[in-house]
Amino acid sequence: MSNESERLLISGAGAAGLSLAVGLKDAPYEVVLVDQNPVPDKDFLAQDTRQIALSKRSQYYLESIGIWDSIKSYVTPIEKVHVSEKVFRTRVILNAADHELDNFGGLIPLGRLILTLHEAIESQDNLLYLPDTKLLRYYADHEADEAVCHFKNSEAEFSHAFKWMIAAEGTHSTLREMAGIQTAFTDYDQVAVIAVGTFEKPHNNVAYERFTSRGPLALLPVNTHEMAIILTVKREERAKWEAASDSSFSDEVLFRIGAELGMITSVTKRHVWDLKLMVPKTLCAEYLTLAGNSAHALHPIAGQGLNLG
Ligand SMILES: Cc1cc2nc3c(=O)[nH]c(=O)nc-3n(C[C@H](O)[C@H](O)[C@H](O)COP(=O)(O)OP(=O)(O)OC[C@H]3O[C@@H](n4cnc5c(N)ncnc54)[C@H](O)[C@@H]3O)c2cc1C
Repeated sequence: MSNESERLLISGAGAAGLSLAVGLKDAPYEVVLVDQNPVPDKDFLAQDTRQIALSKRSQYYLESIGIWDSIKSYVTPIEKVHVSEKVFRTRVILNAADHELDNFGGLIPLGRLILTLHEAIESQDNLLYLPDTKLLRYYADHEADEAVCHFKNSEAEFSHAFKWMIAAEGTHSTLREMAGIQTAFTDYDQVAVIAVGTFEKPHNNVAYERFTSRGPLALLPVNTHEMAIILTVKREERAKWEAASDSSFSDEVLFRIGAELGMITSVTKRHVWDLKLMVPKTLCAEYLTLAGNSAHALHPIAGQGLNLG
């Protein structure tokens, strides 16, 4: 039985907030998960082709909360990581087998991970999920020793008191800002152009990180011949890459990686992300802990954002 007078708030139901909520399924108190967005459409999530790399540690966490078995058939393992520099032709190859691991983790469609986490919270006894609910502000009630949060949904504004709050609100966090936690932002002056491409040759479960004078490129293995492509370009070129044809995008990827994987035979629609480094001065404040992108935002070249927890 959960103790409803001992409530914990998770603000934000992205991958970080959802996986924390599932991880608290045996906690002896009520967990309230709010998100300003509506419940995501299950068909949309199931068809989402955006890929995310999960490290071995993320795999162990998902195993510990009972999620891994439901998603492991969708995961493409990374067995080797090939890091190289184009001009000087230097390279380092990391092999999971050398570290007595079967792999370094793997790629999963982000929508599949979110969908599975949503299915898990549906049957969670100690969880109250409030979609379409935006956290507006909070104040500390020291006499009652709790934080009082103010929310808004389509019908009303209302308040709830919590013993603890977790900000999983992404890079721009209301809770973090209201707690007065300072952040250092560094602008990379770059955007990431992401897509999934199919290559002529099999990738053999190798991930590539390639550094070039035009910016870095990451290729992460999916299935047998597909690669999640993260092409980093200068921000001033954003419009050019948003409008780029499949063939000019593929040409740029091949210019950076070379002939190792053969030609690109098809490529999905591109998504473009602004890249910034965000480091908060502290991860905790009175009644509050930061998680996911509320706790850090970094360059996606090494695929570590969510993996850092
Ligand atoms: C191009 C690219 C590639 C990446 N690849 C990888 C990778 O391979 N591996 C990896 O680990 N990471 C990767 N990352 C990083 C990863 O995507 C993020 O770290 C992760 O998705 C962030 O999840 P989150 O739950 O913290 O935040 P979000 O997904 O941003 O979720 C935040 C949620 O909070 C809600 N919210 C915000 N404010 C409020 C409020 N006031 N009230 C209520 N709800 C609110 C929002 O609606 C949203 O649903 C990549 C990032 C980029 C840009």
